[in-house]
Amino acid sequence: MTTATTTSRTAVVTGAARGIGASIARRLAADGLAVAVADLEESACYSVVEEIQAAGGRALAVRVDVRDEDAVHDAIERIVSELGEPTVLVNNAGIIRDNLLFRMTVEEWDAVMDVHLRGSFLMARATQGFMTKAGWGRIVNLSSTSALGNRGQVNYSAAKAGLQGFTKTLALELGKFGVTANAIAPGFIETDMTAATAARIGLSFEEFKTAAAEEIPVGRVGVPEDVANAVSFFVSDRAGFVSGQVLYVAGGPKA
Ligand code: NAP
Repeated sequence: MTTATTTSRTAVVTGAARGIGASIARRLAADGLAVAVADLEESACYSVVEEIQAAGGRALAVRVDVRDEDAVHDAIERIVSELGEPTVLVNNAGIIRDNLLFRMTVEEWDAVMDVHLRGSFLMARATQGFMTKAGWGRIVNLSSTSALGNRGQVNYSAAKAGLQGFTKTLALELGKFGVTANAIAPGFIETDMTAATAARIGLSFEEFKTAAAEEIPVGRVGVPEDVANAVSFFVSDRAGFVSGQVLYVAGGPKA
């Protein structure tokens, strides 16, 4: 929905240089929001920002490591001064470090917890004040069907299940300020992340996608726009009475 109100709103999307995050950034910009395209490398965000600007939207490339409290603080300060006070946050940055439990290292466990859980916490804490002050805000966290359990992903599934509890608590704490918090749990989405999984198990990406599609009720794998459409809904004014929910965007009830 593009209204005079949404035109003046600012969103931050983490991990937005590529994949699902880039698609969410493009979609929110098309919805009329100014979008901070935030990722580990500022230069990696330039092409998404240019695309948004070419389509008539407002965007800013911002370097942030969501694991780092000071980096989060600096990124938010820059967004406030160059784009506006963020009242929409999409915690999308993510990594995988897959291994079976008996082989998983402490480094692999910590790396995944740090990006997904510590990162989402730091970003939410740094932005919530703008939302409560405005009496309006939207937080959308990227969970995953892996939250239901997935072999080789004991770290990732724990982090993605953790984000569901995080989301529900944000909804309880922030609801009275007009701030909603929801989670999206995608199934198989075609991105560099799923391409990396294919490579790890020794399949071509095409073989991997075909095999995955056979297990998905709608008969295809997802694309980043499938997730961006759901984010667009949660961020819209129409979703003001929807909070603390987990929406599985997986082509079926499980994946
Ligand atoms: P992707 O293509 O690997 O993109 C993830 C982005 O996050 C990358 O640009 C990456 O930057 C960035 N990132 C990683 N660590 C970061 C940090 N510490 N601070 C800031 N940015 C960081 O992944 P995707 O497939 O689009 O996934 C996006 C989200 O959806 C993730 O949370 C993922 O867990 C979730 N998800 C994906 C799927 C799927 O099937 N693809 C399914 C369910 C859930 P670099 O490029 O520099 O590493």
